[in-house]
Amino acid sequence: MNRETRRRLTRELLDNAVKAPIDETHELLQRHGALRPGAGKLSSVVALSLGFLALLAVLAFHFPQYLTTPDLRHQYSIDVLRQLLLVALLVAGGMSLGNLVLGRQRNLNLVAFALVLAATALGGSRVPVGNFPDHTPYIGLDWFILDLLGSTLVFVVIEKLFPLYKGQTLFRAEWQTDLKHFAVNHFIVGLALLSVNFLLHHLFGWLVSSGFQQAVQHIAFVPQLLLCVLVADLAQYWTHRAYHEVPFLWRFHAVHHSVKTMDWLAGSRQHMLELMATRVCVLAPLYILGFSEAVMNGYILIVGFQAVFNHANVHLPWGPLKYLVVTPDFHHWHHASDEEAIDRNYAAHYAFLDHLFGTAVKSPKVFPEKYGVVGDYMPDGFVRQQLFPFRRK
Ligand SMILES: [Zn+2]
Ligand SMILES: [Zn+2]
Repeated sequence: MNRETRRRLTRELLDNAVKAPIDETHELLQRHGALRPGAGKLSSVVALSLGFLALLAVLAFHFPQYLTTPDLRHQYSIDVLRQLLLVALLVAGGMSLGNLVLGRQRNLNLVAFALVLAATALGGSRVPVGNFPDHTPYIGLDWFILDLLGSTLVFVVIEKLFPLYKGQTLFRAEWQTDLKHFAVNHFIVGLALLSVNFLLHHLFGWLVSSGFQQAVQHIAFVPQLLLCVLVADLAQYWTHRAYHEVPFLWRFHAVHHSVKTMDWLAGSRQHMLELMATRVCVLAPLYILGFSEAVMNGYILIVGFQAVFNHANVHLPWGPLKYLVVTPDFHHWHHASDEEAIDRNYAAHYAFLDHLFGTAVKSPKVFPEKYGVVGDYMPDGFVRQQLFPFRRK
């Protein structure tokens, strides 16, 4: 074999084993639309996703001080997470290997299997975790992995069981942009927490009275929680309304409204500065009133669930409840670009606020016809959307 032939064969081998799998995976990630069942596509996507998340998880085990969230890691059991990681590696490894043996989606499964191998080579579920300092700057990689896994499981099931738009697929148009928003929102959890707390203390600290806070904390749990949600939603309602009615603020909020397909991931699309500013405005009265820790935890669960659920592709028979609490139907109307829906339905928890303030959507139609900003001027892409408010008109 001469040198030329050897070089050609090596190049072909590399193309076949490395370049083609990476190209096809990259191409898959750019696409949207339904996955054709039966061709091994679904199991390949599951193997790829789990393989990738498992690799990230192994990195988090190696560098917990920089890649995990202190508030979270003090809550969960590391042994349970190790088991979870092991299961993810076994499932991703088994699926990709099975597909390779069956000759289905060779390229995608080569990448998935390579991710599993890399995660295992780096220690897999057995990376030792020693003592480490608690006050390092970090990104919430663990929060991203766990919330993505949990939300996908819960909300994909709900959306499949009670869909509003039956033909809508999981990988709908612009899912990549919203997944990036989702990821970054989770990564910056530490920075957001730090800045929001800093602003709350420095701007509103002088308003805090411990006697008054004790009186609030003496209210029984359920009414205190309902009151907390009411106070939060009143603050949220007026902040949200300002975002719609002040043109400068709308440039930020338009990012959230630019999503044209409503599903559980759509709510993640939000400008980072809006996310922080809204949080300061909503948490300020809660901080001043000093609700009990149990109530605040309850509120965080409610707001975390509703923020995702209200965007989900879900329709349930709500009955008269729809006048009381914000449902996906109610918030879908907020995102509609139908004429009667513009600047309506601002509430996030209590729908009666919009009925009270005269901003509830009144329409003979049951569901909107279209979603997104009127004129469809928002560019697609995470970075372009973050830069959008600062662009000259
Ligand atoms: Zn809005
Ligand atoms: Zn929304």
